[in-house]
Amino acid sequence: MSRPSNFPPPFSTADYVAEPTDPADERIEVGVLIVGAGPAGLACAIRLGQLLEESPDVAERLGDVPVAVIEKGKQPGSHLLSGAVVDPRALRRLFGNRLRMDDLPSYGEVPGESVYLLTRRTAMPLPPPPPMRNHGNWIFSISQLGRFLGERAEEGGTMILPETAAEKLLVSHGRVVGVRTGDKGRNRDGGELGNFEAGSDLVAKVTVLAEGTQGHLTGVALDRFDLRGEDPQVWELGVKEVWKVAKPLDRVIHTLGWPLRTAKKYREFGGSFIYPLGEDMVTIGLVVGLDYRDASLSVHDLLQELKTHPKIRKILEGGERLEWGAKTIPSGGFHSLPRRLHAPGLLLCGDGAGMVNIPRLKGIHYAIESGKLAAEAAFRALQRGETPASALSSYDDAVRDSFIWSDLYEVRNMRQVFGRGFYVGGALASAMTVSKGRIEIGKMRAEPDADQPLLDSNVSYPAPDGKLTFDKLSSVFASGNKTRDDQPNHIKIERRVPREVAELWAHMCPAQVYEVGPEESDGTVRVELAPSNCVQCGAITAKGGRLTPPEGGSGPEYTKT
Ligand SMILES: Cc1cc2nc3c(=O)[nH]c(=O)nc-3n(C[C@H](O)[C@H](O)[C@H](O)COP(=O)(O)OP(=O)(O)OC[C@H]3O[C@@H](n4cnc5c(N)ncnc54)[C@H](O)[C@@H]3O)c2cc1C
Ligand code: SF4
Repeated sequence: MSRPSNFPPPFSTADYVAEPTDPADERIEVGVLIVGAGPAGLACAIRLGQLLEESPDVAERLGDVPVAVIEKGKQPGSHLLSGAVVDPRALRRLFGNRLRMDDLPSYGEVPGESVYLLTRRTAMPLPPPPPMRNHGNWIFSISQLGRFLGERAEEGGTMILPETAAEKLLVSHGRVVGVRTGDKGRNRDGGELGNFEAGSDLVAKVTVLAEGTQGHLTGVALDRFDLRGEDPQVWELGVKEVWKVAKPLDRVIHTLGWPLRTAKKYREFGGSFIYPLGEDMVTIGLVVGLDYRDASLSVHDLLQELKTHPKIRKILEGGERLEWGAKTIPSGGFHSLPRRLHAPGLLLCGDGAGMVNIPRLKGIHYAIESGKLAAEAAFRALQRGETPASALSSYDDAVRDSFIWSDLYEVRNMRQVFGRGFYVGGALASAMTVSKGRIEIGKMRAEPDADQPLLDSNVSYPAPDGKLTFDKLSSVFASGNKTRDDQPNHIKIERRVPREVAELWAHMCPAQVYEVGPEESDGTVRVELAPSNCVQCGAITAKGGRLTPPEGGSGPEYTKT
């Protein structure tokens, strides 16, 4: 049986760590450099703005640009995709009495909720288990929230550089001193086009990596500074759509069971969410653990199939799909957190560090809280003018004292138990939930997603009808993806692999990037690539390849996800 991890990609961390190369007077100098305009990065920028406003002397010492955020999407929000039912704790703590929840661009408080166990035709209501209770939480579009937070950060003095991908980690004398941004305007072979623009060295006193799931430089930093956690990280793939609907939905819905299979050999874990977005829209998504084994499984097509269930078809009937997108979620939890969240000159926050509570399907409030704590730690060090390697260690202490740590500890084995199958996993997860994590069931190691041996059950999905169900290419179109066709390939994979591995990638990718090519004389097949379809979901990094950031400004243009 093949395992994707037996065919590692041509990728070396060393290629993405460099000393600054621009002449000193051409480097762009900033005080604190934040990579990623997601909830974590923008919360960090907003908190720094608040602190620097109260301490103009520190702001002055940080130069003309005290805080900068770089974002690879066209604007903040373009690459943000989530549920999103948000626990408001961290937003309230970030804004204090400056803003109320009602001032944020939300779709209001969760009005009610239902959980169903699905079979192909039936939907059995279940009492919502504690992690799925959402009373007091708020519904958002995270891409809209991202744009709003970006504006608040700019009002506080942050400079946001969109369409800019951080490609290399700049390290000098063992200390992170910033990032090098990617070139723009290269052709498929790497040659320079008429509009070529070389990347730049952005140097900073403190660099905060808030890249979210499968963060490219976060992965580089974890290796370079030996920060990886006790357990490997594992991921889920979420695919979602936003629909205009004829009738308002009056509650949030979660489903378990069909179309996922419960037999242990498939190792299929996940569920769906359907959330109202005001009176005339809903969002529907399916999340599936990437430790699954069936090479023919496609989360994109499972979501299409889910919509044909009578219960769900009724919600979407007479409606129209407005947007589509996909993204991974780190799900290893507590034991997969990095050993340290800082290195000299560097802080890690949000999904990049794996701060997600997977039974609750929530990470936004941890991203925001960790961004805030990172800002406070950076500010403390800068205020004292400290430079020693340990200057940022107070961030680790603050995270350990926060609700991020206690929440993640409480659900520490929750994802791993589902490796034992849906029913045994469900029973163990319930025991842990009821005891608030006090029942010790022995630590279960997460196994890397790419280590799972593959099987192929040749599963097939209903043909798309273009109204309720869609094929992958029309979904990519609905993501607003505008990646230039002739850019260099940003996806690193082994191109000659056993057929099973090629099939896995072709079915797994929700954006139809991979095709199984011709068979070679040694029995392997060649994998053909259409990288410009990529929506940067990150699944390939979990399953044996490596996503690197393409030219800044490429990828989806999410507006409602
Ligand atoms: C389908 C799905 C449903 C979810 N549902 C919920 C939910 O209901 N509630 C909840 O609380 N959480 C939910 N989550 C999790 C939540 O979305 C994340 O925890 C949260 O978005 C993490 O925030 P972040 O700022 O760490 O990362 P992100 O939101 O991923 O933001 C990272 C940003 O960094 C940018 N970036 C990354 N690398 C680079 C680079 N090298 N250079 C420049 N820019 C870069 C990205 O483009 C992106 O804009 C869900 C996730 C998914 C995928
Ligand atoms: S190629 Fe892009 S869209 Fe496809 S799985 Fe990889 S990261 Fe996701």
